[in-house]
Amino acid sequence: MNATEQILTKILKCRRVDLYTKEREMKDFERAVATQMLERFESGEPLQYILGEIAFCDLSLKVNRNVLIPRFETEILVDRIIFTLQGLSDLTFLDLGTGSGNIAISLAKAFPNSRVFAVDISPEAVGLAKENAAGNGVEKQITFICEDMHTFLEEQAGKIAPFDCVVSNPPYISTKEIACLPPDVRQEPVLALDGGEDGCRYYRLIAPHLTSWLKMGGYCFLEIGETQKEKVAHIFEQHPESWQTNIWPDYTGADRIFQAQWIRKHG
Ligand code: GLN
Repeated sequence: MNATEQILTKILKCRRVDLYTKEREMKDFERAVATQMLERFESGEPLQYILGEIAFCDLSLKVNRNVLIPRFETEILVDRIIFTLQGLSDLTFLDLGTGSGNIAISLAKAFPNSRVFAVDISPEAVGLAKENAAGNGVEKQITFICEDMHTFLEEQAGKIAPFDCVVSNPPYISTKEIACLPPDVRQEPVLALDGGEDGCRYYRLIAPHLTSWLKMGGYCFLEIGETQKEKVAHIFEQHPESWQTNIWPDYTGADRIFQAQWIRKHG
């Protein structure tokens, strides 16, 4: 559906085909809302923020300007985790930088006996993620924590039981590339995009903590930028004997998912 069709089907609460096959006069307020939404779209605002919701995997999620708009690539990340851990139960997940809660909520739904901890620095994001968890019926499985990743990883290790899986789609765009992003992407929160000088800031922040956070045999899944494979692999190669790693592509063939299983203690 194009943007106009998406806006109209939302306002008129109908299917796309109804727009073309059913005669119905728009009410004044519907016309006013549609016009306003189309103007916002034409001025460059992302359609997902205008509609206020998005489909992610089999979920419907609310989104607003306080969170990154979930991407297809992240559905691949979620699918990879589900595929890897299928058949296991009572799993524990830690989602770092949860944003709208898309990853945490998908995992909670896919693994109904699991427990998920989801961390984000933004109180607004955590508020929205909680709403999304409730909207998808998994609020009892997820504990949301509003904290910056660094403080959380430093201070909470050992207080929360080790996890079967740590996952993150951290900000991974380099600071200098932010200014070159398309105008609609630049309307997303810079906090959710900016991965520091080379985009790898959060991988460097997360990796050294993983062995305090994972169970032996546990997995870390990271979404990465398409040019970051070597850098991220290098971060894990500090202890090559400890990690079994894999890289998975997205639908365009770009390296997108970094998987590391903790197989051996180092030292
Ligand atoms: N976890 C969220 C997502 O994958 C938010 C990620 C982020 O803010 N960088 O969309």
